[in-house]
Amino acid sequence: MTLPARLVLLILLFGLPFWVQAEWHNAQRDIMGTRISLDTWHADATRAAECANRVFEELRRIEVLMSTYIATSEISRINADAAVSSLEISPELAGLIEKSLYFSDISGGAFDITYASVGYAYDYRNKQQPDDEALARALPAIDYRHVELDGNRIRFRHAGVRIDLGGIAKGYAVDRGVATLASCGISRAMLSAGGDSRIIGDRGGHPWVIGIQHPRDPEAIALRVPLSDTAVSTSGDYERFFFADGERVHHILNPKTGKSAEGSWSATVTGPDAMTTDALSTTLFVLGAVEGIALIESLEGFDAIVIDHHGKVHYSSGFKEPESES
Ligand code: ADP
Ligand code: MG
Repeated sequence: MTLPARLVLLILLFGLPFWVQAEWHNAQRDIMGTRISLDTWHADATRAAECANRVFEELRRIEVLMSTYIATSEISRINADAAVSSLEISPELAGLIEKSLYFSDISGGAFDITYASVGYAYDYRNKQQPDDEALARALPAIDYRHVELDGNRIRFRHAGVRIDLGGIAKGYAVDRGVATLASCGISRAMLSAGGDSRIIGDRGGHPWVIGIQHPRDPEAIALRVPLSDTAVSTSGDYERFFFADGERVHHILNPKTGKSAEGSWSATVTGPDAMTTDALSTTLFVLGAVEGIALIESLEGFDAIVIDHHGKVHYSSGFKEPESES
């Protein structure tokens, strides 16, 4: 066979090589209180845009299901009624609550969706936090064991319990978005929802280089990590915060105290799915570097980088410390 004939045969068998026509397309939307950014590698700009719209629709659907700011959302209905009587909820929400309870179990309660029993009293925009008396009154309601989930029925065993999926929902939404991308036949992409991202494939023969924000300098990147085919989530105390009496009051609460978790500046987790990396980044932030990395080492397929409150960087075994590189 001549060379051109072989080439034609190869193209017939495997399609056009991807570098002939495909390009990167970027689309962005504001959903779930954050900027969503989607990069796709596709030969057809119109198809890429259609697919991006399907992804954004899916994220919006999840937002409506899980937002505690929407009074008619399913989660708001649970918070209003589940302490009074048991409720039938959607399998999707029940599944996510069940996962959340699992992360509570493996973290000794560092991850706890009932944090919201106190968390609702914080308003970071208006610099409001509960006073000591209100905190002491609400604190006993934080305990994931108050949540009784039986199939698709939920009940709170304690009055005053509220739940919020803010520590896991964005990662879940990213995974759902990626499932939508797969159904469009896209095999190279990156979908980011603020601190939660998933990379499908690579950047075109090279990994994506993901910057981890410097926790104390909004203009700077603390570390750059090359990543392909993975989920990555970062939780930081610089996302939503204000200062009161010289102390940083931020949005990740220690369920034991009902106050902002201390000990970490940021926690980054990589692994196969964004729901898990999202929940684990919040978990590691609360646990701190030593306990957090010990937890990660016990889980197959996950790695972490924790920047502690002295600015020291801690790595799990899958990340080589730059100092130790030869
Ligand atoms: P974000 O990407 O929004 O910064 P994170 O993954 O860092 O999210 O998680 C922070 C969010 O998780 C908070 O805004 C809150 O909704 C929720 N949260 C705060 N503390 C806890 C906790 N101890 N356990 C579970 N969820 C929490
Ligand atoms: Mg998280």
